[in-house]
Amino acid sequence: MKVGIPRALLYHYYYPFWKTYFEELGIEVVVSPPTNKIVMDLGVKASVPEICVPIKVYLGHVLQLVNMGADWIFVPRFVSIQKGQFFCPKFMGLPDMIRHSFPHIASRLLIPAIESTTDDLATSPKQYREIEEKLGVTNAANKKALKKAEMVWLDFRRLSLKGYEVPDAMAIALGTKKPQEVAVSNTELQKDEITLGVLGYVYNLYDSMISLDVLSKLREMNVKVKTFEMIPERMLKERLIGMPKTMFWTFSDKLFAAGYHFYNEENIDGLIHVTAFGCGPDSMLGKLLELDSVKYQKPFMTVRIDEHSGENHLQTRIEAYVDMLRRKKQLNTQRGA
Ligand code: SF4
Repeated sequence: MKVGIPRALLYHYYYPFWKTYFEELGIEVVVSPPTNKIVMDLGVKASVPEICVPIKVYLGHVLQLVNMGADWIFVPRFVSIQKGQFFCPKFMGLPDMIRHSFPHIASRLLIPAIESTTDDLATSPKQYREIEEKLGVTNAANKKALKKAEMVWLDFRRLSLKGYEVPDAMAIALGTKKPQEVAVSNTELQKDEITLGVLGYVYNLYDSMISLDVLSKLREMNVKVKTFEMIPERMLKERLIGMPKTMFWTFSDKLFAAGYHFYNEENIDGLIHVTAFGCGPDSMLGKLLELDSVKYQKPFMTVRIDEHSGENHLQTRIEAYVDMLRRKKQLNTQRGA
């Protein structure tokens, strides 16, 4: 029996958990390939035009998994992973969107409803009852698999906090790479290096087709990058205390808090917000952060992406931005600031 996991949305945060979980249950996992033109086109054709690009891409990955012969497709319904906070409605309605877009696979969907009180998905085994029922898994085996999945996922999170970017942290946690084989993004910073706080949902930033590989482009320019998942959860939560208004949506709040964390961190030279065209939560958090960039005296740039975004345009914009930051830094150094 093969369970297919779409390489999209929260694959980029929970894959170490899900892979370990299913494999502990003795189930083979198949993952759709990294997003490419075929996946993107499949998703775009199957979606309503106004929806954000990561959701379009998700639909393309689901279709790819069907073509790859997956018996089941894993489409969790993310409702909440923090008390009083919820996922963007597109996450909550995702399984229904898939069911209605592809009625021929509706009976092959695995849809656990994720309602947890922490980022760690193992806290409430009853969330996975649907999997017990559909795949014939015992309650004891389910609990044991969740425990193992939790350990691997916590390891993945520890690696992110050390500064490994998501794909590297995943590979190390899952044992396909050794830590010494990959670079860490936020090791001790040299004074003359440019460091950027890059704000973006993991499913946009770490999907190189969606983000036009902005992280690699910055790396090639010798820019160090920090992202929200490299900041301890406790620090993110502290940033939100006392704010007149927070974001309500879980991952938007993490980005919002990370934005203010970057504004207050001396070593961060500027911020880039990578956002999907049509993203409601981002339209608010991006505007608030942009307005406050004046108060914190830190440059802030928005990169808006969709399926039509052009690579050359992005390259020119980030080169100009980084160039401006380098000049500013040199001037400040000359002035002894
Ligand atoms: S948060 Fe924005 S980008 Fe993410 S699914 Fe919701 S609308 Fe799309």
